Amino acid sequence: MKNYTPLVALIILLSASCSKPAEIITAHSYEELKGTVIGTYQGAVVETILSAHAEECGYKVEYHTEPASIIQGLKNGSIDLMTVRFPEFKAYMHSIPGLYQVWDSLLVDNQLVLFSQKNNELKDQFNEWLKLPETQQLMQDSKEYWFRPYGAPDPAPRDYDAPAEGDPIRAASSFTVVGTTYISNGKPAGVDMDVLYGFAKYVGRPVELLNMPTLSILAAAQTGQIDMGISGISRRPDGSINENMLISDPYNRASHALVGYSEELAVQQMKEAGLYKEKNFFTNMYDAFRRTFVEENRWQMIAGGLWLTVRISLYALIFGTLLGALICAMRMSRRRFISGAAKVYIEIMRVVPILVFLMIMYYAVFSTMGVSGEIVSVIALAMSMAAFVGDVFCMAIQGIDRGQREAGYALGFSKKQTFFNIILPQAARSAQDVYNGQVIAMIKATSIIGYIAVMDLTKAMDIIRSRTFDAFFPFIAAAVIYYLIAVVFVRLIGWLLDVALPKKGSAVAPELIINQAKKTVAPVSPDHSARNSEVVLSVNGLRKVFEDGVAVLENITTDIHRGDVVSIIGPSGTGKSTFLRCLNKLETSTEGTVTMQGIAEDEMRNHMGMVFQSFNLFEHLTVLENVCIGPMKLLHKSRAEAEMRGMELLSAVGLANKATYMPSQLSGGQKQRVAIARCLSMDPEVILFDEPTSALDPTMINEVLTVIRELAARGMTMLIVTHEMKFARNVSNRVFFMNHGVIYEEGTPQQIFSEPQREETKRFIQGISKFDYSIVKGYDFIDLSNSLEQFLLPRMMTQSVVSHTMAAVEELLLLFQNGNGCVARIESGASLTVQYIELSQSTEIILSYSDKLPQILSDSDREDDLSITLLRGYTSVLEESAGKLYAKIK
Ligand code: ADP
Ligand code: MG
Repeated sequence: MKNYTPLVALIILLSASCSKPAEIITAHSYEELKGTVIGTYQGAVVETILSAHAEECGYKVEYHTEPASIIQGLKNGSIDLMTVRFPEFKAYMHSIPGLYQVWDSLLVDNQLVLFSQKNNELKDQFNEWLKLPETQQLMQDSKEYWFRPYGAPDPAPRDYDAPAEGDPIRAASSFTVVGTTYISNGKPAGVDMDVLYGFAKYVGRPVELLNMPTLSILAAAQTGQIDMGISGISRRPDGSINENMLISDPYNRASHALVGYSEELAVQQMKEAGLYKEKNFFTNMYDAFRRTFVEENRWQMIAGGLWLTVRISLYALIFGTLLGALICAMRMSRRRFISGAAKVYIEIMRVVPILVFLMIMYYAVFSTMGVSGEIVSVIALAMSMAAFVGDVFCMAIQGIDRGQREAGYALGFSKKQTFFNIILPQAARSAQDVYNGQVIAMIKATSIIGYIAVMDLTKAMDIIRSRTFDAFFPFIAAAVIYYLIAVVFVRLIGWLLDVALPKKGSAVAPELIINQAKKTVAPVSPDHSARNSEVVLSVNGLRKVFEDGVAVLENITTDIHRGDVVSIIGPSGTGKSTFLRCLNKLETSTEGTVTMQGIAEDEMRNHMGMVFQSFNLFEHLTVLENVCIGPMKLLHKSRAEAEMRGMELLSAVGLANKATYMPSQLSGGQKQRVAIARCLSMDPEVILFDEPTSALDPTMINEVLTVIRELAARGMTMLIVTHEMKFARNVSNRVFFMNHGVIYEEGTPQQIFSEPQREETKRFIQGISKFDYSIVKGYDFIDLSNSLEQFLLPRMMTQSVVSHTMAAVEELLLLFQNGNGCVARIESGASLTVQYIELSQSTEIILSYSDKLPQILSDSDREDDLSITLLRGYTSVLEESAGKLYAKIK
């Protein structure tokens, strides 16, 4: 995983650390502000007033959300002036040298406390409290205490002693305005805290203090999530505050000032205070590090935020993954409304921004339930992650080849066993990278939970930034920490996967097994070594109709005896595969029964092996594991026992030396031999082969056929669908010729291959293909000869056979048209058939016409007709019976 975040952040830092000195600005009217850029806060009262004159007086207003970014702007010269409330200005001057006042009374505004609507009584109590003379005194002392000039010692945070018993006041503040509300030495501090705790003492209630950005405080007061919000909030000039909340009388008044920054002044002030140091990039970095981590033990706050981020990420990861698995299962459900619901869920989650979703969950769904922000965060993040992860899981599972599942079923695994042993491990590996990406996305998304009163890592950094006014260093530190969290999580997931799904599982040393295997060769259980009349498999009236209504198999009835080797041949698409699949119930038959002697229906698969055209080895397992998984999981053999037997089988198919290979490292022929060994590992009574060599290069076909031949010799009962005619002839004792869904003809190899009785069988065995053309009055000879040529050319025959066939057809038609009774002949028409026989690579021509007409060749007048002479030259046989002329081309 490459992550450039730290690098990019470093570049930003470098560019930001070059500051530009500004000259001292003086202005006491809007006109004098011409040409300046003024930084102020979004939504603040003063913003409205400044913006109103901006265009007319030729200055620019820039909106920010927090002091740290405005001060950074001042320092690097992108902002000339900032607005600040007068008391806070003092607090800033306290920590930032170089600030100077430009215009002291831009506006005076009032600070208020927000109450949720249900808290009218609390609001009245607050207003009463404000009126007390002690409160006036408290305000004055408080302001003097928190707002001090530059160089004066830091005000120490206070220990507030609110009552411990009673119904707590849920109060929220933003803690990002130095002097007013902020965190000092890890404790809440500032004028607002004095006010809050003074009031709490007055009403005799404990305080539950929440940490939220100002905008969240407004929302939380409206929904009643909090009782009161106190965060230096001021009233807009039009006097309106949303009517869904209540506001107190003003508890503080403050005038707004315009403030500038001068580097020279900063140096001068620092020298005067004896705090001046030469600066360069490294000392800047060091200072930022010290301020961010060391001063006031801020690392503790960061560590707390980090721990919370990790905890929330971890819970969201666990629940998100579980929920994702559920969503995935729902999506793959056959019930339309369940899969539909999952799809809608995924769709919604995909389009709704996670921040919006988090807000909805916190302020709408859980607002009245008193669920903590932390739990809401976990729920929201987990739900969001589940949608993406569910999608990832589904795609991974659907991406696993169907053959893997079928091979699992064929081996005897139930649906569930197949899913957990075969599908899931492969899907998990293939989904791992995308899943990791989603985990990282989720960890990054935790950075928004600060909006709902949760003090995560990002929020901790925000609060620190509001104290140190470093705009960049805390971000870089955060980026590095997030990067590390992501790395640890991804490593952890990888490790868990390795533990759950080990890539190599050989308990016994491979060399040892191989040596052992060399000693023993007993691939097939000897108990079915004799061919006899015992019926192993009985098929009765089997019929299969697919959903499209087409009958693929019709009324198949047959008995398979122990030791039978049945070759099934026939054109493609006639149902050979479907027949085999119905035998081991990979396909459910529509009618009829398949039974195995003395074996319950649902056990049959365990006693029947299947070898597929496309091998379907379990891709996530080694060769040996492929051969061991069945015996271990289904026959409950120990690993050692299964491996010993597995090695015997592998050496029987000549692959003992490949035991530790993965299937992808084998050739096609080797894969198929392993597939056969895997099949044998279950000691099947019958093995079904579905075109075992069709996917192989010619050079590999033999190595597989040899293995099958060996099995036949040892008396294994087998049904083999194959196109290898020679092999079928040699190895089997019975041959089924399947055509159009039925066993069209059955017999010994001798019968089927040498003396096929039925037309279609002959045609298939001899490889006959037909060309038909009907000769009617006015037929187009050019068209006929073109079509015939197109039929003949792609077939495997010599050029002379093609040209002789073409010429013979031409001469025949000439004779036909010009011979005895020619008018009647043309009138009644004829049909021309040209057959190509693959076996002999020869062609035959049959011309049939009305048998009432005189024969063509026996016409004595034409004995020495040139056409007849030519015809005899092209053909080896030329015969005519009533209404039919037969010619075999030389
Ligand atoms: P073969 O193995 O002899 O080539 P198959 O048994 O594979 O033939 O297929 C026989 C017929 O059944 C084909 O026409 C095929 O299109 C159809 N068929 C096979 N599987 C399905 C299925 N799952 N749904 C619908 N039709 C199918
Ligand atoms: Mg097939």
